[in-house]
Amino acid sequence: MKFGTYFAYWEQEWDADYPYYCDKVARLGFDILELGAGALVGLSDSELSRVKSAARDAGISLTGCIGLPAAFDVSSADKSVRDNGLDLLRRILTAMSKIDATVLGGIIYAYWPVDYGKPVDKPSVRARAIESMLSIADFARENGVLLVLETVNRFEHFLINTSEEAVQLVKDIGHPNVKVMLDCFHMNIEEDFLGDAIRTAGKYLGHFHIGECNRKVPGKGHMPWEEMGYALRDINYGGGVVMEPFVKMGGTVGSDIKVWHDLSGGADEKKMDEDIAEALRFVRSKFA
Ligand code: MN
Repeated sequence: MKFGTYFAYWEQEWDADYPYYCDKVARLGFDILELGAGALVGLSDSELSRVKSAARDAGISLTGCIGLPAAFDVSSADKSVRDNGLDLLRRILTAMSKIDATVLGGIIYAYWPVDYGKPVDKPSVRARAIESMLSIADFARENGVLLVLETVNRFEHFLINTSEEAVQLVKDIGHPNVKVMLDCFHMNIEEDFLGDAIRTAGKYLGHFHIGECNRKVPGKGHMPWEEMGYALRDINYGGGVVMEPFVKMGGTVGSDIKVWHDLSGGADEKKMDEDIAEALRFVRSKFA
């Protein structure tokens, strides 16, 4: 297992000075920095090259995450919207290959967050999501990027809420470059037992997001860390375990994630660094 964190713990917008965070997370003991994949398409080749060098010099690997905006919904009934989404995914994957990023996860099979003001036609969305993922899977592999489909709670999307649904979707896509991504924040809402859900994903699990039920850093809440650790060892999981804490209000991140009070205890950047370094030691001890 490799351990990482999402950059947005420290940020209020979905883009950031990524070389700065390469250094920071390496210094804090992480193996992986997860980036906002959407922001990569706005970077020039020289900026991408700075990110690549910073990661290499810091000795960390890079992964990316995105919830596709509605205008780029690859499961849309409108073919022009699907094509926009696939085009954006290709541009993201091309940028990811330029920084040697290895995994793209999130809501890459539809859009996020889903608009429940519209009717839900799950079978049609599912069929188009399968078609879109199949059409991009080879391109992703040629760029050295594994696609992982994040399984999220019912309030954010309807297509895959459980590990069982995610595995069935990945089996129906049937491409070795498309795997399941779980996130214990969402699992806590949808699954009976988190260990069982991890075992259900088994060899299909390609990426794992972690955090407490209220999205604080691991170790500050009641998430069943030992149960998850046993299950990850049972399935011989060797992929990324990436923290996705959100503890600060404000900006696009605070509003998209719906952080309406300060969960950091008024922490400044130095205290936030200490908190997440402590969380890393905690998770390594539970999952090792
Ligand atoms: Mn997540």
